Amino acid sequence: MSHTKVVIVGSGFGGLAAAKALKNAPVAIDLIDRTNHHLFQPLLYQVATSVLSPAQIATPIRGILRQQKNTTVILGEVVGVDTDQKCVLVNDADREGVPIPYDYLILATGATHSYFGHNEFEKFAPGLKGLADAVAIRNKVLQAFEQAEAEEDPSRHRDLLTFVLVGAGPTGVELAGAIAVLVRSSLRSEFRRIDPTSARIVLVDRSSRVLNSFSERLSEAAQKRLEKLGVEVRLGRSVDQIDADGIVMAGERVTSHTVIWTAGVTPSPAAKWLKAETDHAGRVRIQSDLTVPGHPEIFVIGDAASLDREGKPLPGVAQVAMQQGRYAAKLIRNRIAGKPAPGPFSYFDKGNMAVVGKGFAVLQSGKVHASGFGAWLTWAAVHLQFLATSSLRLTVFLQWIWTYVTGQRGSRLIVNYHASEPARTISDAGTKAAASNG
Ligand SMILES: Cc1cc2nc3c(=O)[nH]c(=O)nc-3n(C[C@H](O)[C@H](O)[C@H](O)COP(=O)(O)OP(=O)(O)OC[C@H]3O[C@@H](n4cnc5c(N)ncnc54)[C@H](O)[C@@H]3O)c2cc1C
Repeated sequence: MSHTKVVIVGSGFGGLAAAKALKNAPVAIDLIDRTNHHLFQPLLYQVATSVLSPAQIATPIRGILRQQKNTTVILGEVVGVDTDQKCVLVNDADREGVPIPYDYLILATGATHSYFGHNEFEKFAPGLKGLADAVAIRNKVLQAFEQAEAEEDPSRHRDLLTFVLVGAGPTGVELAGAIAVLVRSSLRSEFRRIDPTSARIVLVDRSSRVLNSFSERLSEAAQKRLEKLGVEVRLGRSVDQIDADGIVMAGERVTSHTVIWTAGVTPSPAAKWLKAETDHAGRVRIQSDLTVPGHPEIFVIGDAASLDREGKPLPGVAQVAMQQGRYAAKLIRNRIAGKPAPGPFSYFDKGNMAVVGKGFAVLQSGKVHASGFGAWLTWAAVHLQFLATSSLRLTVFLQWIWTYVTGQRGSRLIVNYHASEPARTISDAGTKAAASNG
């Protein structure tokens, strides 16, 4: 019997939820992703600040779906969709544009960071979206302390130990808080020439408050907490320039060798592939059943999609993507079974949370607005619950307890994947020069 063919592109929160919800459906699923893992993005900042290792927040997709016999996992990059022929075009390891046919298509390709038209900033200010970004930022932060320790001239220490985060949304706030805790705990007693606690952490945003998707009261609580941790919060200032020497904001230069971009995001090119209408941010405008106008067989979900609720687009958060994934799966199951379609998609908002340093979070859920240790415990419980496997839940839980009690981090390694040779020392260089001369 030939099954209905469902192609899901993206195994993030939305795509994976859709695939799992089709587990017992009479369909053959191809789940395509350009990485081999499902990534828990909300904890990326903990990899970037050495609390967790990459393997603690990502799981191989094959492993997650090993029991799901109706699903084939394909490692490949989708580069287009032929809506007439009903196939997606995939580049894999050694072939380009391989067509993979579908009866139903679910595009869940997420978003990436956006430099608001200033792509030249990227070279100096990496963003945080994938595992490689998190490791690159971890390298950059740890390297700054090493470079400062190796620098004999104390007048250069301040610039080397200035960390600038551009964007005071949840990622910027969480990173700034975590760097502040890092310098005050793990690194505090390990250096001899420098005092890591003298590090300057600057959080910049053009908005007038941090975490502006939260209530004003919670924004204020988060800002106070950041300032208590020693973070300089500079609001209402646009960053006009980022270069090798730092940033220029509202005419003022802040010299820094470590600038991190935590501002905007831009969706994947799903709209281009479909030649579909987009919102101002480039997300595909979808209908209330999550399909693309004119294509009842194509769903776009999660960060790549735009669906208004009460005149505002749904936020780019994991819960929206997961609920949309389950809804798309249900609609496909109903259509195959000849049942009526479920009512329009309706988002159940479970609330928002952000961590600000050790043992402190802000939480906003309906009428509940809370900050402090209780909110942090809730944050920890919720995040553990949503990790992909029990083994990750256990290792992350134990790591958090260890870090909380001892202040020690799990993964403080500088790993340069492009240069596996040990660093050359001056005596190495001398020996090699002597050898080649001889
Ligand atoms: C640093 C950070 C922190 C966050 N913190 C939170 C938080 O605390 N709470 C919260 O709710 N949300 C948080 N978010 C947002 C949340 O992660 C996203 O809303 C969610 O991941 C969206 O799910 P998605 O399925 O649309 O996309 P994603 O989860 O991003 O998945 C997209 C998938 O598509 C794949 N893909 C993309 N393009 C292609 C292609 N061309 N071919 C093949 N595969 C492709 C990617 O590899 C990826 O696996 C955070 C995001 C970031 C970056």
